[in-house]
Amino acid sequence: MNSSSPDPETIRFALHGGAGDPPPGAGPQPQQRDVLRRVAGEAHALLRAGASALDAVTRAVELMEDCPLFNAGIGAVLSRDGQPELDAAIADGTDRACGAVTGISRVRSPIRLARAIMERTPHVFFGGAGAERLAAELGLELVEPGFFITAERLQQLEAAKRAGAITLDHDDHAFCDDDAAFGTVGAVARDSRGHLAAATSTGGLSNKLPGRVGDTPVIGAGTFADDRSAAVSCTGTGESFIRSGFGHAVHARIAWCGWTLDRACAEALESVAHYHGRGGCIAIDAQGNIALPFNARSMYRAWVEADGVVRVAIGPGGDGA
Ligand code: ASP
Repeated sequence: MNSSSPDPETIRFALHGGAGDPPPGAGPQPQQRDVLRRVAGEAHALLRAGASALDAVTRAVELMEDCPLFNAGIGAVLSRDGQPELDAAIADGTDRACGAVTGISRVRSPIRLARAIMERTPHVFFGGAGAERLAAELGLELVEPGFFITAERLQQLEAAKRAGAITLDHDDHAFCDDDAAFGTVGAVARDSRGHLAAATSTGGLSNKLPGRVGDTPVIGAGTFADDRSAAVSCTGTGESFIRSGFGHAVHARIAWCGWTLDRACAEALESVAHYHGRGGCIAIDAQGNIALPFNARSMYRAWVEADGVVRVAIGPGGDGA
């Protein structure tokens, strides 16, 4: 295949809505499953209609940011002082172009700002007030921080504070026994021309210290794409994903050592565990293989292989209903 001949057979897509350790009685969570199915279906339809991998992951993450059930955009978890501090990144496998943003609370769609940074500035990474000023200059929609805050997240923050914990979004705070919990959203895609892209957006960890930055906006850690290897989007204890250099480690094992996607992701996840972290990733390689490994009790995920069927799963075990 070459880049002038689109081939629908090459299309793949995967989506995550975070990982964590929900209570054993959390049940089948039909609402979350419905959202994952709908968003993956919409992204896949875009790819079928000829959209680029970049457009598909941008749209999927934007839709997830608008859903209060997941930890990004509306419904993002809150930092210790009760404020949303949002991070996002996007990576284009074609030429390693990328854009990232951290610590913002006034930009309606952090992933749209990351994309604009990539395409409309000479830079790749913006933070805080400068990022928000840039968003205004670029004409992106601005909102008040309260726009992102939900009653559930305020309760979750209080529970995390009572437990003295810094938690992942989906963790069961009642019995959370370590200092972590997640819920980030992310998407990876391979389009009809074989190009790869990845996008991730998050509120980070509940009860995190103000100013803390996780792996999500760090290109080569929580978000990465290179057409020669894979597109990767992570969720989990950001500090451990940064320490393991997750996205770039997957790339290096595939591009330089000839490893399979499964093996490269499993090794990177072992490294996360070694650095005391939990979580998982979604990844698609240049051949269209998909890997969805995680070492928490659950990872909310949906994926579409060559057969075009949208599959959804939360707990361990493969092709969830
Ligand atoms: N990885 C994110 C962070 O550390 C959290 C998550 O995945 O929910 O900011």
